[in-house]
Amino acid sequence: LRAIGGEFALIDRIRQRVGASGGAVLLGIGDDAALLGPSGTASNLVVTTDLLIEDVHFRRSWCEPYLLGRKAAAVNLSDIAAMGGIPTATFLSIALPTNLTVEFVDDLIQGLDDCCKEFGSQIAGGDTNAAPDRLVISVTQIGTVFPTKAKRRTGARYGDRILVTGRLGDASAGLALLEKFGLAGAEKIAATAVRRQLSPTPRVAEGRIAGELGAVRAMMDLSDGLLGDLGKLCSASRTGAVVQMEAVPVGQGAKKTAAKLGANPLSYALYGGEDYELLIIVMAEAAQDVMVEIEKSTGTAVTDIGEIVAGDTVWYVDAAGQRFAASAGWDHFAGGEPASTGTTGRAEDDTIE
Ligand code: ADP
Ligand code: MG
Repeated sequence: LRAIGGEFALIDRIRQRVGASGGAVLLGIGDDAALLGPSGTASNLVVTTDLLIEDVHFRRSWCEPYLLGRKAAAVNLSDIAAMGGIPTATFLSIALPTNLTVEFVDDLIQGLDDCCKEFGSQIAGGDTNAAPDRLVISVTQIGTVFPTKAKRRTGARYGDRILVTGRLGDASAGLALLEKFGLAGAEKIAATAVRRQLSPTPRVAEGRIAGELGAVRAMMDLSDGLLGDLGKLCSASRTGAVVQMEAVPVGQGAKKTAAKLGANPLSYALYGGEDYELLIIVMAEAAQDVMVEIEKSTGTAVTDIGEIVAGDTVWYVDAAGQRFAASAGWDHFAGGEPASTGTTGRAEDDTIE
């Protein structure tokens, strides 16, 4: 993966080879999920898939199997939410090492099924195999969306406001604690951070409401950190962005973790992944109404953190008004460079992210 220039360069390479869409594929590689036609029908399919590998994405020593099952479902449901879709069916493929107990597998399936059912999806198939050592879980999530209501990453325009649901940074703070102190120690320091790392909540209801609103022009879920993910959305929309750092809603878990580890809480919120909150790009004049509408119907707070601007750079502005370029421009990474500055974003090698 490193030889090819990282995960994003590889995806670009695959996309260039196979094409981004065609036939029944109305939207292919490059968004949170694919949209499948035929076009002109009342409902399109939304399809996404995600792979979880033991010791790359989770450790069995701190993942209860039940929560691991929930997370495997949640990360996929989040990508359906990011399109404004309604989850319908889930496919589960697992490679099981011989040292797993029957109870472990039972709990894993229970967690997965509970999370799916909670968000209206039914497990409808999959594949099962033996694995030499590590547990591997691959989930494919199907949903539906009214064709004109699907929210892509490409719709942002200059002057639009940038909204985020919930609070950021807890999940990566939780990961830092788990790596350093193990499960029991981490929970004592910041239980919220640990919970949000081990059991994220997909923002399905919030995504559906945003999908219904014409003023919402683009959407994605935050899986790899605000900085990197906003860069990807801007790249897809061929815009830049300005984010007010002090407006970014930082989670309580991230704050507690930062105090314990002597870190800056904002760094978890800006660079840390796996929050699975939604990034919602909305026409400026409707921003207030959209925030109120989502908050009123779901109880989830929505925060305005900045503006879409011309150019190809994501800028961060601090309280003193100083601007920092947060990522390479889209024209750079369209050429195969990593989408982030190199200190952030998704781990490219064999480390937990
Ligand atoms: P997300 O974080 O929203 O799940 P990813 O960064 O994993 O998105 O993927 C970005 C896009 O690249 C998605 O459209 C995904 O379907 C596509 N993609 C990722 N890996 C592959 C692959 N191996 N082959 C084809 N498409 C891929
Ligand atoms: Mg996504």
